[in-house]
Amino acid sequence: MSEQHPSAIDQPPAAALPVSESFFSLQGEGKLTGIPSWFVRLSGCNLRCGWCDTPYASWNPDGAPRDLSSLVDEACATGARHAVLTGGEPMIFPALAPLSHALAARGMHITIETAGTVSRVDIACDLMSISPKLSNSTPHAGDPRDPDGRWRRLHESRRINLEALRALTAGPWQHQLKFVVAAPSDLDEILALLALLPPVAPTDVLLMPEGTSPAPHASRDWVWQACLRHGWRYCHRLHIDLFGNTRAT
Ligand code: SF4
Repeated sequence: MSEQHPSAIDQPPAAALPVSESFFSLQGEGKLTGIPSWFVRLSGCNLRCGWCDTPYASWNPDGAPRDLSSLVDEACATGARHAVLTGGEPMIFPALAPLSHALAARGMHITIETAGTVSRVDIACDLMSISPKLSNSTPHAGDPRDPDGRWRRLHESRRINLEALRALTAGPWQHQLKFVVAAPSDLDEILALLALLPPVAPTDVLLMPEGTSPAPHASRDWVWQACLRHGWRYCHRLHIDLFGNTRAT
């Protein structure tokens, strides 16, 4: 992407990363749900999902630059064997690469959580957790956070990058495609997108009901039924059950 990412807070020095929060918790989503993990949430994103559950790392990025050595020391001190590099969009930060390699050198399993709009090969990664953004993610016209509609247009133009998705699903790591779904019509979008990618194993496709509270029956029944039909995984949000919609969990 040639355009600069105006969402990133002031770019820190190369040996540092803008960090919104870091914490030790259980992985709440995806194939590795329940595994004790050290998380670092990088602050800044090239998208603006209307329903973003971490607006403090996208719409209003907070935090401060942290040097890489302090992050690695913190991760190791937790005793975690798994590290989750998330955001925001971690892939837009050049210093993601040295951080990922430093953690891998200490024997940690690395998950990178990305929307899949940026591909790169300089990172260490065991599980690429890709969450392509469907049209349900685009901010509504009139969203007060986007008075001139600039982010609505940018988001819509950026949210699907087929070249990046193809590269990320073909990379030297395991992958999962995690779709946030809001309505049954989302299924057609998912099927159309999967048809444009190299074959993805059905069990690597995850459907997660949109929301920051436990999904009511009406909004989750069609999701699990779609998973049964297509062989996909239903993706729960363990951290919401355990901790509610709170930061650093
Ligand atoms: S890609 Fe993720 S962090 Fe960025 S706006 Fe969407 S949900 Fe928020």
